[in-house]
Amino acid sequence: MASPHLAPNYAPLPVVLAQGKGSWVTDTGGKTYFDALAGYSALNFGHLNNELIATAKQQLDTLTLTSRAFDNNLLDPFADALCALAQTEMMLPMNSGAEAVETALKAMRRWGHLVKGVAPDVGTIIVADGNFHGRTSTIISFSTDPVAHDAYGPYAPGFTIVPYGDLAAFEAALTPETVGVLIEPIQGEGGVIIPPADYLPGVQRLCKEHEVLLTLDEIQSGLGRTGKTFARELTGTTPDLMCLGKALGGGIMPVSAVTGRADVLSLFTAGTHGSTFGGNPLACAIGLKVCEILETGVWQEAATELGKAFSERLQSFVDEGLLVSKRSVGLWAGLDLDPQYGTGHDLCVTLMERGVLAKDTHGSTIRLAPPLTTSAEDLDWALDRLEESLRQLVG
Ligand SMILES: *Cc1c(COP(=O)(O)O)cnc(C)c1O
Repeated sequence: MASPHLAPNYAPLPVVLAQGKGSWVTDTGGKTYFDALAGYSALNFGHLNNELIATAKQQLDTLTLTSRAFDNNLLDPFADALCALAQTEMMLPMNSGAEAVETALKAMRRWGHLVKGVAPDVGTIIVADGNFHGRTSTIISFSTDPVAHDAYGPYAPGFTIVPYGDLAAFEAALTPETVGVLIEPIQGEGGVIIPPADYLPGVQRLCKEHEVLLTLDEIQSGLGRTGKTFARELTGTTPDLMCLGKALGGGIMPVSAVTGRADVLSLFTAGTHGSTFGGNPLACAIGLKVCEILETGVWQEAATELGKAFSERLQSFVDEGLLVSKRSVGLWAGLDLDPQYGTGHDLCVTLMERGVLAKDTHGSTIRLAPPLTTSAEDLDWALDRLEESLRQLVG
């Protein structure tokens, strides 16, 4: 599986997957693996989720694409359901997560110029170091990861980078020209970094005081992963805008959206922003079903319940010296291996050999994000394999 025709912008583990169901995937040789990455949280409801697949199949026989030149009959229901779930006023549908982030950046700048009255071309947006918001040339302009950032200049100006989790540094970075803040409530690619409990509420308060918009990027943290519908609920933070993606597409296709204040999103008038595929009928059908699934609260509850045993077991690995540290919330964990015992990649290869797929974030850190639909037995099985792998590496 190394076609010379495929650009090498990934270095995948040496496994070629051919099938999936629930928390399990099978490779071309017939070996099965527990999927502890779940498409970076795009597969929160598991592979080939029955309800989602049935919805998609039905829509494939009905109507798949209209473009926004015409409305489709699922656009309003999806918008209503997503705003009800997010307890907010308005949404704008896009496709990939990066497009949702771009939409939020444009919304904050547009509001900055048109409403806050910041002169054109000087509005700045504050972001955090260690962020991951996607791969467009504007977004990587404010990435602090050299691998994601370097060699792509010239870079988009207008961003101020502050240390994540440091409220005083955030306050010091605010200027009269600050129009917005873009931040992950928990940093996923950063290694599941959970900021101090008073950080997000503090950022929200300072944004109000300084007339600055707060955008939370919940593309990875949202839609049940943390045991809450949105990670922001863990700290009672209410953003002005929120970016959603990944699991919104039900593990089937890219579906993203920005949700939030109507007075901000309605600044996008006809022609000022758009997407050929955003809000297509197939995406709306799947997104609507995802909202219905989350409305029940079943998988948030499962993530909370399974998350307790998950966290305790991982903590026991730390207590035993098999890991340096762990951070976890719901069914989401960042694990740090002592670098003297290997890299995150080494650990993932060992795990793969034992039948568990996971991915390093950087250095000796790996992230676990199993489907929320996984069973306690399957999760235990995967954690047993993790324990064996750690014992093998730590010796
Ligand atoms: C994955 C991710 C994105 C980008 O989503 P794509 O669909 O890959 O463009 C943005 N923000 C966060 C927090 C993410 O985890």
